Amino acid sequence: MKRALITGITGQDGSFLAEFLLERGYEVFGLARRESWFRPNNASHLGDRVKVLFGDMSEGTDISSALQDAQPDEIYNLASQSRPGESWVRAPETLMINGMGAIRLFEAMRHGCPKARVYHASSSEMFGQTKCIPQNEETPFNPANPYAAAKVYAHQIVRIYRESYGLFIASGILFNHESERRPLHFVTQKIAYGAACAALGIKNSTDLNERGHPIVADGRLSLGNLDVARDWGHAIDFVRAMWLILQQERPDDFVVGTGKLHTLRQLCEAAYGRVDMNWQDHVVSDPSLVRPLETGQTLADASKARRLLNWEPSISFEEMVSKMVDAQIVRLKSTLSSRK
Ligand code: NAP
Repeated sequence: MKRALITGITGQDGSFLAEFLLERGYEVFGLARRESWFRPNNASHLGDRVKVLFGDMSEGTDISSALQDAQPDEIYNLASQSRPGESWVRAPETLMINGMGAIRLFEAMRHGCPKARVYHASSSEMFGQTKCIPQNEETPFNPANPYAAAKVYAHQIVRIYRESYGLFIASGILFNHESERRPLHFVTQKIAYGAACAALGIKNSTDLNERGHPIVADGRLSLGNLDVARDWGHAIDFVRAMWLILQQERPDDFVVGTGKLHTLRQLCEAAYGRVDMNWQDHVVSDPSLVRPLETGQTLADASKARRLLNWEPSISFEEMVSKMVDAQIVRLKSTLSSRK
Protein backbone atom coordinates (compact mmCIF):
# COMPACT_ATOMS: atom_id res chain seq x y z
CA MET A 1 0.00 0.00 0.00
CA LYS A 2 1.42 3.42 -0.98
CA ARG A 3 1.72 6.07 1.70
CA ALA A 4 1.03 9.74 1.04
CA LEU A 5 1.49 12.79 3.26
CA ILE A 6 -0.57 15.90 2.49
CA THR A 7 0.33 19.25 4.06
CA GLY A 8 -2.76 21.49 4.15
CA ILE A 9 -5.18 18.56 4.39
CA THR A 10 -7.86 20.78 5.98
CA GLY A 11 -7.93 23.00 2.88
CA GLN A 12 -9.99 22.75 -0.30
CA ASP A 13 -7.41 20.87 -2.35
CA GLY A 14 -6.02 18.83 0.56
CA SER A 15 -9.43 17.38 1.37
CA PHE A 16 -10.29 16.52 -2.26
CA LEU A 17 -6.84 15.02 -2.74
CA ALA A 18 -7.20 12.90 0.40
CA GLU A 19 -10.48 11.49 -0.97
CA PHE A 20 -8.86 10.86 -4.35
CA LEU A 21 -5.91 8.98 -2.81
CA LEU A 22 -8.08 6.97 -0.41
CA GLU A 23 -10.16 5.81 -3.39
CA ARG A 24 -6.93 4.55 -4.97
CA GLY A 25 -5.98 2.55 -1.89
CA TYR A 26 -3.36 4.89 -0.42
CA GLU A 27 -2.69 5.16 3.27
CA VAL A 28 -3.16 8.91 3.77
CA PHE A 29 -1.44 11.07 6.38
CA GLY A 30 -2.21 14.74 6.80
CA LEU A 31 -0.20 17.52 8.42
CA ALA A 32 -2.62 19.91 10.12
CA ARG A 33 -2.49 22.62 12.72
CA ARG A 34 -3.98 21.23 15.92
CA GLU A 35 -6.48 24.07 16.40
CA SER A 36 -7.70 23.72 12.80
CA TRP A 37 -8.19 19.98 13.00
CA PHE A 38 -10.45 20.24 16.03
CA ARG A 39 -12.66 22.83 14.30
CA PRO A 40 -15.07 21.77 11.54
CA ASN A 41 -12.89 21.69 8.43
CA ASN A 42 -12.97 20.40 4.86
CA ALA A 43 -11.49 17.05 5.91
CA SER A 44 -13.57 16.52 9.07
CA HIS A 45 -15.60 13.80 7.34
CA LEU A 46 -12.37 11.85 6.71
CA GLY A 47 -11.45 11.80 10.40
CA ASP A 48 -11.24 8.04 10.85
CA ARG A 49 -9.82 7.30 7.39
CA VAL A 50 -6.74 9.55 7.47
CA LYS A 51 -3.97 9.75 10.04
CA VAL A 52 -3.51 13.29 11.22
CA LEU A 53 -0.11 14.53 12.34
CA PHE A 54 -0.14 17.86 14.09
CA GLY A 55 2.28 20.52 13.00
CA ASP A 56 2.90 23.94 11.56
CA MET A 57 4.84 24.75 8.40
CA SER A 58 6.73 27.42 10.35
CA GLU A 59 8.36 24.69 12.49
CA GLY A 60 11.05 22.57 10.87
CA THR A 61 10.88 19.99 13.65
CA ASP A 62 7.11 19.50 13.11
CA ILE A 63 7.77 18.75 9.46
CA SER A 64 10.68 16.34 10.13
CA SER A 65 8.60 14.46 12.72
CA ALA A 66 5.67 14.19 10.29
CA LEU A 67 7.94 12.70 7.63
CA GLN A 68 9.43 10.30 10.14
CA ASP A 69 5.98 9.13 11.29
CA ALA A 70 4.43 8.89 7.83
CA GLN A 71 7.42 7.45 5.92
CA PRO A 72 5.67 8.65 2.76
CA ASP A 73 6.18 7.50 -0.81
CA GLU A 74 4.51 10.68 -1.99
CA ILE A 75 4.32 14.11 -0.36
CA TYR A 76 1.88 16.80 -1.50
CA ASN A 77 2.88 20.23 -0.22
CA LEU A 78 -0.34 22.20 -0.33
CA ALA A 79 -0.12 24.17 2.94
CA SER A 80 0.04 27.89 2.44
CA GLN A 81 -1.32 31.29 3.34
CA SER A 82 -3.40 30.98 0.21
CA ARG A 83 -5.17 34.32 -0.11
CA PRO A 84 -3.34 36.70 -2.48
CA GLY A 85 -5.49 39.65 -1.37
CA GLU A 86 -4.70 39.06 2.29
CA SER A 87 -0.98 38.72 1.63
CA TRP A 88 -0.76 42.53 1.50
CA VAL A 89 -1.54 42.72 5.21
CA ARG A 90 0.20 39.42 6.13
CA ALA A 91 3.31 39.73 3.98
CA PRO A 92 5.96 38.38 6.43
CA GLU A 93 3.78 35.40 7.41
CA THR A 94 3.05 34.67 3.76
CA LEU A 95 6.75 34.48 2.95
CA MET A 96 7.39 32.43 6.09
CA ILE A 97 4.80 29.75 5.22
CA ASN A 98 4.70 29.77 1.42
CA GLY A 99 8.40 30.34 0.84
CA MET A 100 10.33 29.15 3.88
CA GLY A 101 7.78 26.39 4.60
CA ALA A 102 8.64 24.80 1.27
CA ILE A 103 12.37 24.91 1.91
CA ARG A 104 11.86 23.40 5.38
CA LEU A 105 9.90 20.55 3.83
CA PHE A 106 12.48 19.89 1.08
CA GLU A 107 15.30 19.90 3.66
CA ALA A 108 13.40 17.45 5.86
CA MET A 109 12.74 15.22 2.85
CA ARG A 110 16.36 15.43 1.67
CA HIS A 111 17.59 14.19 5.06
CA GLY A 112 14.68 11.99 6.15
CA CYS A 113 13.16 10.35 3.06
CA PRO A 114 15.15 11.27 -0.06
CA LYS A 115 13.44 8.58 -2.15
CA ALA A 116 9.99 10.14 -1.67
CA ARG A 117 8.31 12.05 -4.50
CA VAL A 118 7.19 15.59 -3.73
CA TYR A 119 4.46 17.62 -5.40
CA HIS A 120 4.68 21.33 -4.66
CA ALA A 121 1.75 23.73 -5.17
CA SER A 122 2.93 26.60 -7.35
CA SER A 123 0.45 29.12 -8.71
CA SER A 124 -0.55 31.04 -11.82
CA GLU A 125 -0.34 34.14 -9.61
CA MET A 126 3.42 33.90 -10.22
CA PHE A 127 2.84 35.23 -13.77
CA GLY A 128 1.33 38.36 -12.24
CA GLN A 129 1.55 41.38 -14.52
CA THR A 130 2.55 39.32 -17.49
CA LYS A 131 2.60 40.56 -21.07
CA CYS A 132 2.50 36.99 -22.51
CA ILE A 133 -0.94 35.42 -23.01
CA PRO A 134 -1.48 32.49 -22.57
CA GLN A 135 1.20 31.33 -20.12
CA ASN A 136 3.11 28.06 -20.18
CA GLU A 137 6.04 26.58 -18.23
CA GLU A 138 8.52 28.87 -20.06
CA THR A 139 6.66 32.17 -19.46
CA PRO A 140 8.66 34.58 -17.24
CA PHE A 141 7.21 35.36 -13.81
CA ASN A 142 6.23 38.89 -12.83
CA PRO A 143 4.50 38.57 -9.42
CA ALA A 144 2.14 41.37 -8.41
CA ASN A 145 1.54 40.65 -4.71
CA PRO A 146 3.42 39.21 -1.70
CA TYR A 147 1.66 35.82 -2.09
CA ALA A 148 2.85 35.49 -5.67
CA ALA A 149 6.39 36.61 -4.78
CA ALA A 150 6.61 33.94 -2.07
CA LYS A 151 5.31 31.32 -4.53
CA VAL A 152 8.02 32.34 -7.05
CA TYR A 153 10.67 31.87 -4.37
CA ALA A 154 9.43 28.37 -3.53
CA HIS A 155 9.07 27.48 -7.21
CA GLN A 156 12.71 28.39 -7.85
CA ILE A 157 13.75 26.31 -4.83
CA VAL A 158 11.86 23.34 -6.32
CA ARG A 159 14.04 23.52 -9.43
CA ILE A 160 17.25 24.22 -7.51
CA TYR A 161 16.75 21.27 -5.13
CA ARG A 162 15.72 18.97 -7.97
CA GLU A 163 18.75 19.81 -10.07
CA SER A 164 21.30 20.13 -7.27
CA TYR A 165 20.36 17.09 -5.20
CA GLY A 166 18.68 14.86 -7.79
CA LEU A 167 15.48 14.72 -5.71
CA PHE A 168 12.03 13.97 -7.15
CA ILE A 169 10.43 17.36 -6.51
CA ALA A 170 7.81 18.40 -9.07
CA SER A 171 5.44 21.32 -9.23
CA GLY A 172 2.05 22.20 -10.64
CA ILE A 173 1.57 25.81 -11.73
CA LEU A 174 -2.13 25.67 -11.08
CA PHE A 175 -4.59 28.23 -12.35
CA ASN A 176 -7.64 29.20 -10.28
CA HIS A 177 -9.74 26.28 -9.13
CA GLU A 178 -12.81 26.56 -7.01
CA SER A 179 -15.41 24.33 -5.40
CA GLU A 180 -18.11 24.03 -2.79
CA ARG A 181 -15.22 23.92 -0.26
CA ARG A 182 -13.71 27.29 -1.16
CA PRO A 183 -13.69 29.64 1.86
CA LEU A 184 -16.05 32.61 1.79
CA HIS A 185 -13.13 35.05 1.54
CA PHE A 186 -12.72 34.17 -2.13
CA VAL A 187 -14.70 36.20 -4.62
CA THR A 188 -16.08 33.15 -6.43
CA GLN A 189 -17.59 31.80 -3.22
CA LYS A 190 -18.91 35.25 -2.29
CA ILE A 191 -20.79 35.31 -5.58
CA ALA A 192 -22.20 31.80 -5.02
CA TYR A 193 -23.19 32.91 -1.52
CA GLY A 194 -24.77 36.12 -2.84
CA ALA A 195 -26.85 34.15 -5.34
CA ALA A 196 -27.94 31.73 -2.60
CA CYS A 197 -28.96 34.64 -0.33
CA ALA A 198 -30.95 36.18 -3.20
CA ALA A 199 -32.71 32.86 -3.83
CA LEU A 200 -33.63 32.52 -0.14
CA GLY A 201 -34.68 36.17 0.25
CA ILE A 202 -31.84 36.98 2.69
CA LYS A 203 -31.24 40.75 2.52
CA ASN A 204 -28.60 41.02 5.26
CA SER A 205 -26.29 38.04 5.67
CA THR A 206 -24.89 36.87 8.98
CA ASP A 207 -21.58 35.92 7.33
CA LEU A 208 -19.19 38.86 7.26
CA ASN A 209 -16.58 39.99 4.74
CA GLU A 210 -12.94 40.88 5.54
CA ARG A 211 -14.07 44.33 6.68
CA GLY A 212 -16.46 42.88 9.19
CA HIS A 213 -19.57 43.91 7.18
CA PRO A 214 -22.31 41.52 6.03
CA ILE A 215 -21.33 39.95 2.70
CA VAL A 216 -24.83 40.76 1.48
CA ALA A 217 -26.11 44.08 2.85
CA ASP A 218 -29.48 45.61 1.93
CA GLY A 219 -29.85 42.86 -0.66
CA ARG A 220 -26.61 43.86 -2.42
CA LEU A 221 -23.30 42.04 -2.89
CA SER A 222 -20.37 44.47 -3.29
CA LEU A 223 -17.48 43.38 -5.50
CA GLY A 224 -14.35 45.03 -6.93
CA ASN A 225 -13.53 45.14 -10.64
CA LEU A 226 -16.11 43.03 -12.51
CA ASP A 227 -14.07 42.99 -15.70
CA VAL A 228 -11.37 40.81 -14.11
CA ALA A 229 -11.19 37.58 -16.13
CA ARG A 230 -9.68 34.32 -14.88
CA ASP A 231 -9.15 30.76 -16.00
CA TRP A 232 -11.37 28.91 -13.50
CA GLY A 233 -11.74 25.14 -13.11
CA HIS A 234 -13.07 22.76 -10.46
CA ALA A 235 -10.68 21.57 -7.73
CA ILE A 236 -11.59 17.90 -8.27
CA ASP A 237 -9.97 18.03 -11.71
CA PHE A 238 -6.89 19.78 -10.35
CA VAL A 239 -6.09 17.28 -7.59
CA ARG A 240 -6.12 14.56 -10.25
CA ALA A 241 -3.43 16.55 -12.08
CA MET A 242 -1.33 16.69 -8.88
CA TRP A 243 -1.37 12.92 -8.63
CA LEU A 244 -0.58 12.45 -12.33
CA ILE A 245 2.43 14.76 -11.95
CA LEU A 246 3.90 12.39 -9.35
CA GLN A 247 3.28 9.31 -11.52
CA GLN A 248 5.68 10.55 -14.24
CA GLU A 249 9.09 8.98 -14.79
CA ARG A 250 10.93 12.18 -13.93
CA PRO A 251 10.08 15.26 -11.87
CA ASP A 252 8.96 18.29 -13.85
CA ASP A 253 6.84 21.46 -13.74
CA PHE A 254 3.38 21.57 -15.33
CA VAL A 255 0.94 24.38 -16.04
CA VAL A 256 -2.58 23.17 -15.23
CA GLY A 257 -5.67 25.15 -16.22
CA THR A 258 -8.73 24.96 -18.44
CA GLY A 259 -7.47 27.42 -21.09
CA LYS A 260 -10.85 29.22 -20.96
CA LEU A 261 -11.41 32.74 -19.67
CA HIS A 262 -14.48 34.04 -17.87
CA THR A 263 -15.04 37.45 -16.25
CA LEU A 264 -16.51 38.06 -12.81
CA ARG A 265 -19.50 39.50 -14.68
CA GLN A 266 -20.01 36.10 -16.37
CA LEU A 267 -19.56 34.34 -13.06
CA CYS A 268 -22.30 36.54 -11.55
CA GLU A 269 -24.51 35.82 -14.55
CA ALA A 270 -24.04 32.05 -14.16
CA ALA A 271 -24.53 32.10 -10.36
CA TYR A 272 -27.65 34.27 -10.26
CA GLY A 273 -28.89 32.54 -13.42
CA ARG A 274 -28.76 29.24 -11.52
CA VAL A 275 -31.51 30.60 -9.24
CA ASP A 276 -33.36 32.32 -12.11
CA MET A 277 -32.37 35.83 -11.08
CA ASN A 278 -30.76 38.78 -12.80
CA TRP A 279 -27.36 39.45 -11.23
CA GLN A 280 -27.55 43.16 -12.06
CA ASP A 281 -30.37 43.56 -9.52
CA HIS A 282 -28.12 42.20 -6.74
CA VAL A 283 -24.43 43.03 -7.42
CA VAL A 284 -22.67 46.40 -7.21
CA SER A 285 -19.09 47.27 -8.12
CA ASP A 286 -17.26 49.14 -5.32
CA PRO A 287 -14.00 50.88 -6.40
CA SER A 288 -12.62 50.66 -2.84
CA LEU A 289 -12.48 46.85 -3.22
CA VAL A 290 -10.06 46.93 -6.17
CA ARG A 291 -6.64 45.42 -5.30
CA PRO A 292 -3.64 47.81 -4.96
CA LEU A 293 -1.87 46.12 -7.88
CA GLU A 294 -4.16 43.90 -9.94
CA THR A 295 -2.77 40.71 -11.47
CA GLY A 296 -2.62 40.84 -15.29
CA GLN A 297 -4.40 38.52 -17.69
CA THR A 298 -3.59 34.96 -16.71
CA LEU A 299 -4.73 32.16 -19.02
CA ALA A 300 -3.32 28.63 -19.04
CA ASP A 301 -1.57 27.03 -21.96
CA ALA A 302 -1.76 23.53 -20.47
CA SER A 303 -0.66 21.75 -23.63
CA LYS A 304 2.24 20.04 -21.83
CA ALA A 305 -0.13 18.62 -19.17
CA ARG A 306 -2.53 17.47 -21.88
CA ARG A 307 0.27 15.82 -23.83
CA LEU A 308 2.31 14.19 -21.05
CA LEU A 309 -0.26 13.71 -18.28
CA ASN A 310 -3.23 13.11 -20.58
CA TRP A 311 -5.03 15.60 -18.33
CA GLU A 312 -8.30 17.24 -19.34
CA PRO A 313 -10.77 19.09 -17.10
CA SER A 314 -14.06 17.20 -16.73
CA ILE A 315 -16.23 19.81 -14.95
CA SER A 316 -17.33 22.86 -16.97
CA PHE A 317 -17.40 26.45 -15.69
CA GLU A 318 -21.22 26.42 -15.58
CA GLU A 319 -21.32 23.10 -13.69
CA MET A 320 -18.75 24.38 -11.21
CA VAL A 321 -20.73 27.56 -10.49
CA SER A 322 -23.98 25.58 -10.16
CA LYS A 323 -22.41 23.18 -7.66
CA MET A 324 -21.15 26.12 -5.60
CA VAL A 325 -24.52 27.92 -5.56
CA ASP A 326 -26.40 24.71 -4.72
CA ALA A 327 -24.02 23.99 -1.83
CA GLN A 328 -24.47 27.51 -0.43
CA ILE A 329 -28.25 27.13 -0.58
CA VAL A 330 -28.03 23.87 1.39
CA ARG A 331 -25.67 25.46 3.90
CA LEU A 332 -27.80 28.58 4.41
CA LYS A 333 -31.00 26.57 4.71
CA SER A 334 -29.48 24.40 7.44
CA THR A 335 -28.20 27.52 9.27
CA LEU A 336 -31.65 29.08 9.07
CA SER A 337 -33.42 25.94 10.29
CA SER A 338 -30.97 25.46 13.20
CA ARG A 339 -31.84 29.00 14.40
CA LYS A 340 -35.56 28.26 14.52
P1 NAP B 1 -6.69 26.44 1.25
O1 NAP B 1 -8.05 25.86 1.13
O2 NAP B 1 -6.58 27.84 1.77
O3 NAP B 1 -5.80 25.48 2.14
C1 NAP B 1 -4.58 25.90 2.66
C2 NAP B 1 -4.13 24.89 3.67
O4 NAP B 1 -2.87 25.30 4.20
C3 NAP B 1 -5.08 24.73 4.86
O5 NAP B 1 -5.19 23.38 5.19
C4 NAP B 1 -4.36 25.49 5.97
O6 NAP B 1 -4.64 24.98 7.25
C5 NAP B 1 -2.93 25.15 5.60
N1 NAP B 1 -1.98 26.04 6.28
C6 NAP B 1 -1.93 27.39 6.24
N2 NAP B 1 -0.94 27.83 7.00
C7 NAP B 1 -0.36 26.75 7.58
C8 NAP B 1 0.70 26.57 8.49
N3 NAP B 1 1.38 27.61 8.99
N4 NAP B 1 1.03 25.31 8.87
C9 NAP B 1 0.32 24.24 8.39
N5 NAP B 1 -0.70 24.35 7.52
C10 NAP B 1 -1.04 25.60 7.13
O7 NAP B 1 -5.94 26.43 -0.18
P2 NAP B 1 -6.25 25.52 -1.46
O8 NAP B 1 -7.15 26.29 -2.35
O9 NAP B 1 -6.58 24.16 -1.03
O10 NAP B 1 -4.83 25.52 -2.18
C11 NAP B 1 -3.87 24.50 -1.94
C12 NAP B 1 -2.51 24.99 -2.40
O11 NAP B 1 -2.57 25.30 -3.80
C13 NAP B 1 -2.04 26.25 -1.73
O12 NAP B 1 -0.64 26.19 -1.59
C14 NAP B 1 -2.41 27.36 -2.70
O13 NAP B 1 -1.59 28.48 -2.53
C15 NAP B 1 -2.17 26.64 -4.01
N6 NAP B 1 -2.94 27.13 -5.15
C16 NAP B 1 -4.30 27.20 -5.06
C17 NAP B 1 -5.02 27.63 -6.16
C18 NAP B 1 -6.53 27.69 -6.11
O14 NAP B 1 -7.10 28.31 -7.02
N7 NAP B 1 -7.17 27.07 -5.17
C19 NAP B 1 -4.35 27.99 -7.34
C20 NAP B 1 -2.96 27.88 -7.39
C21 NAP B 1 -2.27 27.44 -6.29
P3 NAP B 1 -5.63 25.72 8.29
O15 NAP B 1 -6.93 24.99 8.14
O16 NAP B 1 -4.95 25.47 9.58
O17 NAP B 1 -5.69 27.17 7.93
